[in-house]
Amino acid sequence: MAAFDLIVLGAGPAGAAAATVAARAGLAVALVDKAAFPRDKLCGGGLTGRALGQYRQIFERAAPPVATEWRAEITFRAFGTDLGTLGDVPPLAMIMRRAFDASMVDDARAAGATLFTGTGPTGLDADTGRVDLPGIRLKAPLLVAADGVNSPVARALFGAAFDRNRIGFALEVEQPDTDRPLRIDFGAADWGYGWQFPKTTGTTIGVGGVLARNTDIKSRLAAYLADLGIDDPAPVKGQFLPFGDFRRLPGKGRVLLAGDAAGLVDPITGEGIGYALESGALAARAAAAALAAGRPDGALRHYAKALAPVHRAIRQAGWLRNLMFRPAFRPAFIRSFRRSRNLKFAYLDVMAGTMEYDRLLRRMTARLPAFAWQAMGGKWPI
Ligand SMILES: Cc1cc2nc3c(=O)[nH]c(=O)nc-3n(C[C@H](O)[C@H](O)[C@H](O)COP(=O)(O)OP(=O)(O)OC[C@H]3O[C@@H](n4cnc5c(N)ncnc54)[C@H](O)[C@@H]3O)c2cc1C
Repeated sequence: MAAFDLIVLGAGPAGAAAATVAARAGLAVALVDKAAFPRDKLCGGGLTGRALGQYRQIFERAAPPVATEWRAEITFRAFGTDLGTLGDVPPLAMIMRRAFDASMVDDARAAGATLFTGTGPTGLDADTGRVDLPGIRLKAPLLVAADGVNSPVARALFGAAFDRNRIGFALEVEQPDTDRPLRIDFGAADWGYGWQFPKTTGTTIGVGGVLARNTDIKSRLAAYLADLGIDDPAPVKGQFLPFGDFRRLPGKGRVLLAGDAAGLVDPITGEGIGYALESGALAARAAAAALAAGRPDGALRHYAKALAPVHRAIRQAGWLRNLMFRPAFRPAFIRSFRRSRNLKFAYLDVMAGTMEYDRLLRRMTARLPAFAWQAMGGKWPI
C-alpha cells in the first residue's frame, strides 16, 4: 500500500492544477488517470483571458509551452445575423488539448506529484480514501475527483454524474485549414452556440447546446458547417458538456469534485478550462488547509466557500442565457448586441476575466425593453 496526503483522480486541467498546487504546498500527492498522456480530449481548445490568468497563477508561466494560435480579432453572429467583427480584443489563445494537458501533467510531476497513469481504478472506497489500481493500493485522507463530465466518482457518490435533463452536448470536427477567422455564433444550436476556433494545425468547428433542446444536434452541426462553406467534414465527435448545471455542494465527505465533475462550465460559452483550473487549485488549497489543521473533514466546507464566486458567476451567466435564448427577448438581444460596441467589448471583458457577469447583465438589460425586466419579476435573482 502507498500512503499519500491527497489522491487526485483525473489529470485534465482540474486534476493537474490540483496536483500541482497541492504538491507545491508540501502535500504527498498521487495523480491518477485512466489515460496515458499525451491523450486526446474533445474540446475547442479556446483559452480566454480568464483561463490564461488562472493558468499563469497556478503554473507560474506566462503562457502554455505548446503550439498556440493567438487571435485578437473575433466575429460574433447570433441566430444567423451578423453582429460584427471586433479587432484589438484581449487576445484569445487556441491550443490542442493533447499537448496542453500533457504539459500540465509534466508540471504536476515536476512539482512532486507521483503519477499513476494508463489504468483506471479497479476499486474505490470514498469513506476510507482507498483507491485500488492494478498491482497497488493507494490511500489518503482526502480525494479530489477531477474525472470529467462522466465522473465515475460523482456517479458512485450521487448515483449519477449529471442530470440528463439539464446537461449540454457538443459535436466537433477538425478541419485542416488554418486561415479561418475566430468566430462565435450564438444560437447555432438551441440554447447554445457554434464556434470556429483556428489553431496552428487546423481549425476546430463545433456546436453545443442544452441536450434536451437539441434532440437533433447533428443536423445543427450540418447546417453550421454548410454556413461556413464546409461540405466534406472530417469525422464528427461528440461529448457531454455540463453547461451550467453545477453541483451545489461540490463533493461529499472527504471527496472534493473539481472541473467538469463538479459541473463548472459557463452556460453561454461552454468554456470550462478556466473553471477547471481554478476549482482544482481551490480544492488543493482547501485540502492543504484542512490537513494542516488536522481536520480533513473540514476540507469540503472550506472548498465550497472558496468556490462560491464561481457558482455565482455561472448562475448569473445562466440568467443571461435566459435573456439571450427566450424567443420573446431574442430580437432585443440581437439589436442591442449588434448596435453596441460597448456591449460586445463588455462581453469580451467577461471572457477576459476583467468584468463580472452581473455588470454585463445590468448593461444588457439597460438596453432591453421593459417587458424583459418585468418577466424576471422586476428584481435580480442575485
Ligand atoms: C466539444 C467541446 C468543446 C469544448 N470547448 C472548450 C473551449 O474551447 N474552451 C474551454 O474552456 N472549454 C471547452 N470545453 C469544456 C472543457 O473541455 C472542459 O470543461 C474541461 O476539459 C474540463 O476539465 P476537467 O479537468 O474537469 O476534465 P477533463 O479535461 O475531461 O479531464 C478528466 C480526466 O479524467 C480522466 N478520467 C476519467 N475517468 C477516470 C477514472 N475512472 N479514473 C481516473 N481518471 C479518469 C480522463 O481520462 C481525463 O484525463 C469544451 C467541451 C466540449 C465537449
